[in-house]
Amino acid sequence: MLCRICKSKGKRTKASIYIRHHRLALCKEHFIEWFEKQTAKTIKEFNMFSKDEKVLIAVSGGKDSLSLWYALHRLGYKTYGFHISLGIEGWEYSKKSLDICKKFSERIERPLIIFDIKDEFGYSIEEIAKGSGRKDVCSVCGTFKRYLMNKICKEQGFKVVATGHNLDDESALLLSNTIRWEIGYLGRQHPVLPEKNGFARKVKPFVFFTEKEIVSYAILNKIEYLETGCPNAKEATSILYKRSLAMLEHEMPGTKLRFYKEFLKKARPIFEKELKEHLELNECKICKMPTTASICSVCRTLERLKINVKSR
Ligand code: SF4
Ligand code: ZN
Ligand code: ZN
Repeated sequence: MLCRICKSKGKRTKASIYIRHHRLALCKEHFIEWFEKQTAKTIKEFNMFSKDEKVLIAVSGGKDSLSLWYALHRLGYKTYGFHISLGIEGWEYSKKSLDICKKFSERIERPLIIFDIKDEFGYSIEEIAKGSGRKDVCSVCGTFKRYLMNKICKEQGFKVVATGHNLDDESALLLSNTIRWEIGYLGRQHPVLPEKNGFARKVKPFVFFTEKEIVSYAILNKIEYLETGCPNAKEATSILYKRSLAMLEHEMPGTKLRFYKEFLKKARPIFEKELKEHLELNECKICKMPTTASICSVCRTLERLKINVKSR
């Protein structure tokens, strides 16, 4: 198969990648160009951020977040990486993730902000979940990650945080929210969550790329990333939704993109109207971060942990 762009210029270059749902065959150079142009288009279309703003990129060491950091850096944005070291020991996951992020930040010569949960709180995320009596590590982990992202933004003056969520993540989330008719979540599912109530704007510039496209971008740019995911992810139900959508995609190319794009266009505005316009927020009595209660859920979890640890 020949690269479509090279062919239009009278050159016969072999394609490195074929994007089935766009029926597009491209060589290495034109795929990278296409990928970065699409990223810039999504940022512009959803008004995510400008070249004058500092963008904090949440990096885990995986292909999505590091490719995002690379693409935004190449597009000329003021990027800063942010890595939360969770202290997860399975296959030395956290140590490897941190090493990869550090190496990458050195490669592109951009700063990396690191928050080490074990150093700061004395316990890993798994110990925090266990010690506070919670079985689901991922939900505790999600709460802590969101909290720390907001905290770093507030302390270091970032108004925008970018994450590497891709089309596979977003379409699986959409399917899961739709099956359970989670009106609130459906109303909030969008490539941009605006800055509000002291929380930074959250943006997802890769929402229209599939995992495969991102892997290709990472490989073609020689981005070293962690291939093994977090050992706790095995249990995630999102894998089931991803598998179901992959089956549909195989039979009907373009299903995921259509499902997500049509939702944004036709259904989400209806669910958005159902959302409560204003949430009363207070300052957490302990950490001063915005919260709906008098003490935020992270401070409550840490307090519970101290009590449990003392009573052992
Ligand atoms: Fe955290 Fe669960 Fe993701 Fe692991 S899989 S990083 S524990 S949310
Ligand atoms: Zn080409
Ligand atoms: Zn708090």
